[in-house]
Amino acid sequence: MSWFPHSPDFLGRNFLSIISTNSHYIGAIIELHEKCEICYILSMDKLEELKQTIEVCRRCPLSETRNKVVFGGSNPTARVLLAGEAPGKNEDLSGEPFVGAAGKKLQALLDKAQLTRDEIFIANIVKCRPPKNRNPKPNELRACSPYLAEQIKIIQPKIVVTLGTFASQFILQTKEPITSLRGRIVEASSSERPFAVLPVFHPAAAIYDPSKQPFLEKDFELLRTWLDEREQQ
Ligand code: SF4
Repeated sequence: MSWFPHSPDFLGRNFLSIISTNSHYIGAIIELHEKCEICYILSMDKLEELKQTIEVCRRCPLSETRNKVVFGGSNPTARVLLAGEAPGKNEDLSGEPFVGAAGKKLQALLDKAQLTRDEIFIANIVKCRPPKNRNPKPNELRACSPYLAEQIKIIQPKIVVTLGTFASQFILQTKEPITSLRGRIVEASSSERPFAVLPVFHPAAAIYDPSKQPFLEKDFELLRTWLDEREQQ
């Protein structure tokens, strides 16, 4: 799959172009990146600098209604980056991603994949909470998605797990429903910035619809299998 979309009017085009340009890292270097202590410190510094920029950001109207910007965290050279849509009420109040009931649900899924929060990075496409948890508007996505692109460029994850319909469709530049996207790992190809994408249901969806829980568990088990296979290569 190409990282460049065929649909000219899809917002994700710019997002993916930003990731794919100005990067000097390729496959083997990415392997080293996650194990390199100097890379860890450099990435941490770059993320801190970006965080300071975002915390005072007023690029879009969501800055007027937010309590706290939710930058995300925590491993600056994580193999796995989880990408959600936008902060909810609890995240907006705490400034932390995935707290409360959705956070507990996510933790149980990470346990399935034998991953700790210290090993991964969690971020959203939009860093400030849309009022009443509505979907982000196009101007808000245009303003904010370059920040996630920058986070991905700095962290260089091997795989991006997209949480829920909105994040999955945005990052994969498709309008396919999450029910058909989920559970399939797409090996994204770019000449400069390869990484894979695994779309899954949003963990919070299983709170309201328990029938989604087995699919989420299966997909996080698939994530573990994929990581193990990559380790052996
Ligand atoms: S949502 Fe993003 S672009 Fe808009 S104010 Fe917040 S950080 Fe800035």
